[in-house]
Amino acid sequence: MKSDIFIIGAGLSGLTAAINLAKAGYKVRVYERNPDVGMRFHGDIQGLENWTSEEDVLKSLRRMNIKISFPYSARYSQELYDDDLNKAFLKSEARKPFYYLVRRGSLRDTLDYSLKKQAEESGVEIIYNKKMGIKDTRNTKDKWIIATGSLDSSATAPEKSGIIKGVAAGITFETNAKDRSIAILDDSIAPKAYAYLLIWDKKGTLATCMFENFDKGNECLQKSIERFKKIINFDMKNIKRFGGFVNFLLFSPRKTNTEKNRLYVGECAGFQDYLWGFGMGYAITSGYLAAKSIIENKDYDALWKSEFGGLLKTSMSNRYLFEKLGNSGYKRLIMMLKNNPSWFLMKNYNPSPIKKMVYPIARIKLKKSSALNIAGV
Ligand SMILES: Cc1cc2nc3c(=O)[nH]c(=O)nc-3n(C[C@H](O)[C@H](O)[C@H](O)COP(=O)(O)OP(=O)(O)OC[C@H]3O[C@@H](n4cnc5c(N)ncnc54)[C@H](O)[C@@H]3O)c2cc1C
Repeated sequence: MKSDIFIIGAGLSGLTAAINLAKAGYKVRVYERNPDVGMRFHGDIQGLENWTSEEDVLKSLRRMNIKISFPYSARYSQELYDDDLNKAFLKSEARKPFYYLVRRGSLRDTLDYSLKKQAEESGVEIIYNKKMGIKDTRNTKDKWIIATGSLDSSATAPEKSGIIKGVAAGITFETNAKDRSIAILDDSIAPKAYAYLLIWDKKGTLATCMFENFDKGNECLQKSIERFKKIINFDMKNIKRFGGFVNFLLFSPRKTNTEKNRLYVGECAGFQDYLWGFGMGYAITSGYLAAKSIIENKDYDALWKSEFGGLLKTSMSNRYLFEKLGNSGYKRLIMMLKNNPSWFLMKNYNPSPIKKMVYPIARIKLKKSSALNIAGV
């Protein structure tokens, strides 16, 4: 008889694992600390990255037994600005979008809601308002999947996990402006990262991502709003503020995300794009692989390492190199991106001998600088 599976966290990774296990005949129970799914988010728009692999990400999701029953917007172009507001208009050369926009949160038009419904239809039991910790998983023979995401994840994160935190500060709003995808690379409004404005179907998300100077969140957000207003004329109604952490486990890619009877998936396992924070793909894929490892009795660590271990390491090298650029370096990067952006992004997101060489240095240096970041939070 198939054993029962318990999952902590009804986010992207936990629900993907739950859907796959339930479809394979397992009895699955998911514990969620909030009264609903997606409560970490507020209807904000996020991008499902689509440049790393040849396969379109929506096809990958279907392959992982996820129905595309959520609204999305395919983005084939991207406006990119430097600190002087010089513009590069990037167009996908690869006949596939750079990314798909999705909404996050609890409402019916979100990815989180869609996964919840798919889990329920597959027979998954979700227990809300139930915060669980590692202690609940001990002294039991049951199999657990830990899928607690970011922020308070320290309660369930693997032991000895140092954390680099990236911070996002943003707003969601209603607008009459047309669909746009704009990003700005400028350390004075988004230190070591980027600010973005996404408008989709009369709703907008504007945010600054920061990898240092976290105490300047409000200031950077205000400056970002002013900067985007210089680029396009857009109205904003019903403005709501949001913020969030992006956790980067320092020892990731960890040697193992399997501890006794526990498998770690998603952001709490350190699965995250260290360069720009595109964590959704990692979350869904790791949830799928954890389920596969149980269903087919395969080694989970071997599965995730072979699927995206190299990508994780490359993203850490990319973060280290990106932090060296500064505003003048961003200008050069934008010039390089301009010619063939799809090719450039795919080449740089995938492993290469240079990125492999940089990785050990990146790991040590980022570990050191993250200690400062944590002190500043
Ligand atoms: C502002 C912001 C913007 C982002 N933009 C993008 C983007 O554009 N593209 C992209 O790919 N990624 C983006 N990300 C990252 C992406 O959202 C995450 O990587 C992804 O959601 C991680 O999925 P997960 O399943 O690991 O965790 P989550 O989706 O966060 O789910 C974790 C769940 O576990 C629950 N939980 C936590 N602790 C417990 C506990 N102890 N007991 C019970 N339940 C618990 C939480 O309530 C939550 O529901 C962004 C993140 C932020 C903060």
